[in-house]
Amino acid sequence: MKDLLPPGVRQQGERGIAFVIAGPSGVGKSSVIAALLARDPRLAFCPSVTTRPPRPQEVPGRDYHFVSEAEFDRLLAQGALLEWAEYQGHRYGTPKAEVLSRLAQGRDVVLNKEVRGAWAIKNAGLGYPVVLIFLVPPSWEELVRRVRGRGTEDEEALQERLRIAQAELARIPDFDYLVVNDELSAAVTRVEAIIQAERMRIVRCG
Ligand code: 5GP
Repeated sequence: MKDLLPPGVRQQGERGIAFVIAGPSGVGKSSVIAALLARDPRLAFCPSVTTRPPRPQEVPGRDYHFVSEAEFDRLLAQGALLEWAEYQGHRYGTPKAEVLSRLAQGRDVVLNKEVRGAWAIKNAGLGYPVVLIFLVPPSWEELVRRVRGRGTEDEEALQERLRIAQAELARIPDFDYLVVNDELSAAVTRVEAIIQAERMRIVRCG
């Protein structure tokens, strides 16, 4: 197919693309990402580093790199993080080398971020396209139900997550795509459509 293209033109998917999945806590970012990874071997998930302790089902190195406060300080001082944020008393950051090396290999990278982090990655000057996808629940009532259903936190932490969620929804205009997660497989299909379209996008590079 490449022989058909005029000079100075390529498809965006010939090189790596970063897809950032953001949206309020409890919306189902992790479940959508797990399903995407199972279905598309070109996608690579880049786990964040965090000072938060692991949840029961989480696997170190797969879901997060769990680090001490001192280790997080060291990564920050080394400039090893593309961006970082504090969320409910814990720090989260994006390892720069891991993201860049996968993109350089031509892999498409999937990242799970809170909303400010997504925007920071878009503006970090990665040198690769960054596509911001905002995942929303079908309604506010459903968001509250899902955050409660997670049941890993006390009432105060839960109320704090809901307050943060409200502020995050106000940042929807900063994003490229809005996807409703009403039903997991439907949401995954929608995100896959975005990924396919972005790979087929025509880039004028000449
Ligand atoms: P959780 O503790 O529920 O796993 O994550 C809390 C929030 O931190 C989620 O909204 C998640 O998307 C976000 N998050 C995870 N890793 C990072 C990161 O590296 N940077 C930023 N800015 N947010 C992150």
